[in-house]
Amino acid sequence: MYIRDLSVLDEVHICPDCNETMSCCEVPPVHVGDGLGWGAEVFFICLNDDCPTFENGWKKIDTNYGHKGSFRNMQLPGSKELNALMVGSKIAFTGSIVDPEAMREQNERYSTEKKAVAALDTCLENNDMQPVMTLILDEAARPEGRVAAVSLLKKFNDLSCIDPIRNHTFRKTALEQDCNMAIAQILKKNFQKECPFCAELIKAQAQKCLHCKADL
Ligand SMILES: [Zn+2]
Ligand SMILES: [Zn+2]
Repeated sequence: MYIRDLSVLDEVHICPDCNETMSCCEVPPVHVGDGLGWGAEVFFICLNDDCPTFENGWKKIDTNYGHKGSFRNMQLPGSKELNALMVGSKIAFTGSIVDPEAMREQNERYSTEKKAVAALDTCLENNDMQPVMTLILDEAARPEGRVAAVSLLKKFNDLSCIDPIRNHTFRKTALEQDCNMAIAQILKKNFQKECPFCAELIKAQAQKCLHCKADL
């Protein structure tokens, strides 16, 4: 999950009915045909089970609608306007409480990815392989960006890309195969090969590894 405005994570909302701090939660996906979205990525909900709104809500909903449910107090970011959110159970929304620290980390990862994708077009002329490596080594990055990055790898023809890729665990084997192919081409162009015993780079024609002295 990514939120555009991290400052909402610093907001403190106090439930006016029970004086407890409201929990910052991810908004549920908007139902198709609902028309109106929440207009926010997170909102603040009073998840206190002793909150009068919640305690009295069960009876209210039973009387008015004849089904099981209650209300939780909710406020949108930047607003003190109180909304009553209908919930079907005690545990509703408890699974979508936002961890601000994890959210900040995710945001940071995402903005790094975005910058790297934006830099792909110019990184070759700037001789900057960093965006390419960032995307290749980021398992959470979107596949399109990573595939584009791998295709640039060959053009950089830079042997220093090999170690980080070899030390990375890929979740997608297709991407790993593309990387392997790019590395094979880069090695060939540089008249190098990887020693099958110690993985160090050596001359393509070498009969004996310079590093581990193994016979090839
Ligand atoms: Zn409350
Ligand atoms: Zn070796």
